[in-house]
Amino acid sequence: MNENLRQHKQKTITIYAAMHQDVPESVRISIYADHFRPFVQELESFTDRKVYVVFGAGEPFSNFDYKGEDTMATLRRWEHVGRQYLDRYRAEGFDMDDVHVAVLVTGEAITGNMLGVALTWPPKGTGQFAIASVKGYQVIGHEIGHLLGARHEDSEVTFNGWWSESYMTPEQQPLRSNSYRFSESNRKNIKNYLATKN
Ligand SMILES: [Zn+2]
Repeated sequence: MNENLRQHKQKTITIYAAMHQDVPESVRISIYADHFRPFVQELESFTDRKVYVVFGAGEPFSNFDYKGEDTMATLRRWEHVGRQYLDRYRAEGFDMDDVHVAVLVTGEAITGNMLGVALTWPPKGTGQFAIASVKGYQVIGHEIGHLLGARHEDSEVTFNGWWSESYMTPEQQPLRSNSYRFSESNRKNIKNYLATKN
């Protein structure tokens, strides 16, 4: 690649999504359209990055035991297994210099009404590993939002004839609709984080 091309190479975010075996076929067939496309479009609309989603499956990812009350222990186990997941793609020659995350997509909640969790670290509260169920259309976007620096405190519920929840609204209520957007403050949080990355 010559220098000119290198300079203009677009920055990217890659979401490596490991599909758990308990995600029903009826959900799988439209999972990109229902759970990813709106989020990818939103992310691309305010970052200067192209967003890719790479789906995968197979053990030990597809049968990962994600249920239980001790979600921190579960996340640390997923971090360990998730690294192996990423290593497979690295070995296959995927470009791992970009911003990338590993998300286990599950058919059911982790525990009770906890639909997703993200392993995040100070100072910015960001990370690489999350578990997100298909029990809500904004859950995957919410957890990846956490990994990229978005926060509950900066979420918003807007009213435009009806209430609408942004991606980071912590307690999703069934009577409100989804906005499939991040608030301006969370867009800023995500942009600030991405500015520190390749
Ligand atoms: Zn959250």
